[in-house]
Amino acid sequence: MKFGGPLLRNLGVSPSLSLSLSSSLAATLSSTQFSAGDILDCREASCFGPKNVTAVPRISRRSALQTGGRCVLGGMAGALAGACGMQIEAGAAPSQSSGMAWSPVRFSGRDYLPLEQVGRFYGMGMVQRAGKECSLGTGEKTLRGAADSTDFFISRIKCVLSYPLAEVGSSVCISRLDLVKLVEPVLRPFKIDGAERVETVVLDAGHGGSDRGAVGRLGDEKTFTLDVAMRTGQLLSRAGYKVVFTRTSDEFVSLEERVQVANRLSRALFVSVHFNSGGSGSGLETFALSPRGVPSMSNEGARVSDFGVYPGNLRDPENTAWATAAHSAMIARCGMMDRGIKRARFYVIREATLPSVLIEGGFLSHSEDMQRIASPWYRQQLSGSILEAVRNYRRAVAGSPA
Ligand SMILES: [Zn+2]
Repeated sequence: MKFGGPLLRNLGVSPSLSLSLSSSLAATLSSTQFSAGDILDCREASCFGPKNVTAVPRISRRSALQTGGRCVLGGMAGALAGACGMQIEAGAAPSQSSGMAWSPVRFSGRDYLPLEQVGRFYGMGMVQRAGKECSLGTGEKTLRGAADSTDFFISRIKCVLSYPLAEVGSSVCISRLDLVKLVEPVLRPFKIDGAERVETVVLDAGHGGSDRGAVGRLGDEKTFTLDVAMRTGQLLSRAGYKVVFTRTSDEFVSLEERVQVANRLSRALFVSVHFNSGGSGSGLETFALSPRGVPSMSNEGARVSDFGVYPGNLRDPENTAWATAAHSAMIARCGMMDRGIKRARFYVIREATLPSVLIEGGFLSHSEDMQRIASPWYRQQLSGSILEAVRNYRRAVAGSPA
């Protein structure tokens, strides 16, 4: 099938996206150079093609030197390594990146950036290669992945890329979309323009009432999600945050109502608490809204809805930072298998205008996970991880060491 013609326009795809998908454009742009601001412009619809490259850098003028900027993985490093190594030390990236030009290469109709350039930009040194495997950086400040794979590790946290790493010439390259929508907001959350200071947290206990959610041997999903939300609410209130619940009892609340509660607020974060079920799966995963054009990881193949722009996409960078903070704190505290940070278009994270995530705190269908989820101790750990994540996110986007 030929991309780029009327078909895509019928799907509501903008001309620039059609252009970027057009195979006739492939390999024509490899000599174009972009500045840091051009490449890292991370607001909606900016990562699809050259037509959208803007000359106005979105990166704020605040320098990391002045703000002492932090990575949202702070809690992870503290818990696992007993050190604050994941803190992006003052000046590390900007001093080397200012004035650096990026040279994207075209692959599969998309812009890709060689990892050598990524390493140079973020001050992470040379790329280490072993066959398809490659890594960058040292200590807690590392990136690791493999050509042709979507599994990608920032620090030790697993993230699932929207597009596999690609081997182009002698370099392993990351898609510009993944660089902009994943790597940049995780490594430099303090550069997110317009990220609000968090005062309120919306706790959304999944399911309820007639909707039991997943049914486990030792209890229903709806019961465990409510318990985690209530425990988290207590911890957050004690820590001085305002807390808003979408439900506080075993009642049915529609997805629309849940989003309405969230969208009345500002300076707030939204977290939807769920537990998984199915197959032989186990472990923890966190979902942030898919950027525009990226297939949802809960579906097979591309759908018309992949090309829509949803309210939540206005928060793409915050969503990524918040998901990373939530997931890394959960992995560090709960000690379960890391299934990664993924992308989906679940209704609540798609329609919420606050930075939003959906966490899956284990599998009710897996006997060991089920045992844990049924224990109040585990649910307290999960709740504690949400408090820790809120604190890490807030510090990270402010860039302040407080
Ligand atoms: Zn659920």
